[in-house]
Amino acid sequence: GDSVFEYVTRAPDIPVYAVMVAYKEDPSPFKLNLGIGVYRTEEGKPLLLNVVRKAEKLLVNELSANKEYLPITGLAEFNKLSAKLIFGADSSAIKENRVTTVHCLSGSGSLRIGAEFLAKHYHQRTVYMSQPTYANHPNFFVAAGITVKTYRYYDPTTCGLDFQGMLEDLGAASSGAIVLLQTCGHNPTGVDPNLEQWEQIRKLMRLKGLLPFFDCAYQGFVSASLDADAQPVRMFVADGGECLTALSYSKIMGLYAERVGALSIVCKTADVASRVESQLKLIIRPMYSNPPIHGASIVTAILKDSEMYGEWITELKAMTDRITSMRQQLYNALHDRAIPGDWSHITKQVGMFSLTGLNAEQVAFLTKEYHIYMSSDGRINLAGLSTKTIPYLADAIHAAVNRN
Ligand code: PLP
Repeated sequence: GDSVFEYVTRAPDIPVYAVMVAYKEDPSPFKLNLGIGVYRTEEGKPLLLNVVRKAEKLLVNELSANKEYLPITGLAEFNKLSAKLIFGADSSAIKENRVTTVHCLSGSGSLRIGAEFLAKHYHQRTVYMSQPTYANHPNFFVAAGITVKTYRYYDPTTCGLDFQGMLEDLGAASSGAIVLLQTCGHNPTGVDPNLEQWEQIRKLMRLKGLLPFFDCAYQGFVSASLDADAQPVRMFVADGGECLTALSYSKIMGLYAERVGALSIVCKTADVASRVESQLKLIIRPMYSNPPIHGASIVTAILKDSEMYGEWITELKAMTDRITSMRQQLYNALHDRAIPGDWSHITKQVGMFSLTGLNAEQVAFLTKEYHIYMSSDGRINLAGLSTKTIPYLADAIHAAVNRN
């Protein structure tokens, strides 16, 4: 007989994974994957950090290690260290016990649990996010029953920040609404506000009682300084107001598949924070009961040991430096070819991504004729490039731009 699932319709492919599959199936020796946001070495290989390898060895040899269940909120030491990483070692919010941190399944899980918490316990069910933003962002909130709206962010004419538009849209947002902000290394644009602009954003948001939810997936990937990159969050915490943060270790420690992250909620008082935490447990328990231990143990081993922490920072800086160097080399290559247009945004943008300004038609041309893969909005992952492949990309862009 027919399957009881006969009437299940086929869901559309998820674009970033579709690009990955198309790339894998392409037999061309010249193919180049600039799609999904993962770090690659100069040889185009995935990078397992040495300090992660070292931490794993220590964990394997630790006699007291076991695989018992963690509490619902995860590894307590990991939570403490994660809060310190994002809010700073001397954060008064942490000292006053006003922060609750729960260990979640990476940035995605932190965003999803945070959205669920807000849907159940916050009075406003609208979230504003930047236009454009990370493709999965709307999904976390829609799945929780929260209405998604956007604020202007990116100006396609300058490939930079539309700061005026952003302020106008936040100013017109319904009071109390949730605002999703990317702490640094904005995905997909590579465009971040500067600190003076952040200060204006903060003032406006506090004035209107808008609730900040920071997505922090690239702390350290912009300046190689964890403190400098976390500054936007710390400005909002320093004013005594409340906020949420979703911290991810996927990119910054190269722990993608380990799914390690933390959701923090900064509250006005320690009493509120502890009640909030009690409700987070009720949300997590029926979803996956408690998080996995391995990745969080790696992070904890690194963060708590000053020597390994130092090694991590060195490796983080090497990744960041390579990305910055790719920006400069790509800009130079485009400039050398006298390709029409101002390409200076390539070096002005920061973090792992650049929204190049190439349109969907040009991207399709690059894929078809040059086997270069990227999302149709023209976003490239700079870590997917190398000194060897940049001339090829620049030639391809030259051809794409000269067609129109
Ligand atoms: N947030 C942003 C801005 C991202 O770019 C990503 C991944 O690309 C994520 C969150 C989610 O990643 P993960 O769930 O691995 O932390």
